[in-house]
Amino acid sequence: MRTEFLPFSPPTLGEEEIREVADALRSGWITTGPRTRLFEEAFRDRVGASDALALNSCTAGLHVALKALGVGPGDEVITTATTFVSTANVVEHLGAKPVIVDVEPDTLNIDPRAVEAAISPRTRVLLPVHFAGHPADMTALDALAAHRGLAVVEDAAHAFPARVAGRVVGSGPNLTAFSFYATKNVTTGEGGMLTGDPDLLMRARTLSLHGMSRDAWLRYAREGSWYYEVHEPGFKYNMSDIQAALGLVQLGRVEIFQERRRQVVARYDEAFQGMDALELPGRRPDVEHAWHLYVLRLRLEMLDVDRDRFIRELTERNIGTSVHFIPLHLHPYYRDRYGIEPDDLPVSYSNYLRSVSVPLHPGLADQDVEDVIEAVQDVVDRFRR
Ligand SMILES: *Cc1c(COP(=O)(O)O)cnc(C)c1O
Repeated sequence: MRTEFLPFSPPTLGEEEIREVADALRSGWITTGPRTRLFEEAFRDRVGASDALALNSCTAGLHVALKALGVGPGDEVITTATTFVSTANVVEHLGAKPVIVDVEPDTLNIDPRAVEAAISPRTRVLLPVHFAGHPADMTALDALAAHRGLAVVEDAAHAFPARVAGRVVGSGPNLTAFSFYATKNVTTGEGGMLTGDPDLLMRARTLSLHGMSRDAWLRYAREGSWYYEVHEPGFKYNMSDIQAALGLVQLGRVEIFQERRRQVVARYDEAFQGMDALELPGRRPDVEHAWHLYVLRLRLEMLDVDRDRFIRELTERNIGTSVHFIPLHLHPYYRDRYGIEPDDLPVSYSNYLRSVSVPLHPGLADQDVEDVIEAVQDVVDRFRR
């Protein structure tokens, strides 16, 4: 057994990140400036988007995306139960109603049939999440939105870099929000990026910095001007050049990161396939998976433990894990406000009860991966019925 605890998802940072952040600090420009612009351009080019807007979080990206689309009181936004709460919180911030629907059993992504059934005259936006880095069924969702005259905003917090339906996630006209939170595939500590339709993105850019009418960082440059106007009150969501310095280095390493993630996934697949009490993460053809998470599902009927005990047993074996996600409708706020019972969204709920995410990041050594497999095998053997 491992003697040292294996953390679930530490960031993969090196000397180059430290050097570039130090250079940003020494440059005399630490808020939004030239490094942020370079990071936006590099990210835009990597996903093949027409433009990109750097922000201080993915949550900020989702918030300004919905605001740029004019979402407000009386509107409904259809989203998935299996996500992090920020996806629905931003809808609440705008006074609109998140309509929470169930997921598909293989990928745990939003179910297009459930979306279709939930569309009402008040529906304005479909808000899918690319869970674990496996893209949602965008062919079905885009078609549904086009047919009903709805907008689509994609929560791509897990999906950089990923492809679906022949395109890179973030390269199309849908406003698409990425996260550079500490645990994500590429990190700036805290940070996010929004891509999509250029006109909407321009509106989002203004909204992300108080609603000010011009590139604020130019205000202090020689070619800039002190003058600006505010036509609607915006937010304070801009990225700093310190974050962008980190992001530029991380972006340059993303292909290496993804290669290592795929290697770890291949080894996990090989090992876990042989354990019949486990169900492996689902994947569909014609998808490039970002492999942000590796979510194992326990076949509880074959085990004498529940998921919580399974996690405790792994912790005792020094393996860090997590659970993705506590479904939205189990949080007291959403449960009570919308009166949703756990079993009203049975796929999301039943999979939550049997999900365990195991470590998946580029910093894992081969021995770490073997330690995870050995610990899982040990717990499965001990508690197999
Ligand atoms: C991490 C995450 C977010 C929020 O990202 P931040 O950058 O921390 O705001 C949103 N949605 C999902 C699905 C996430 O996992």
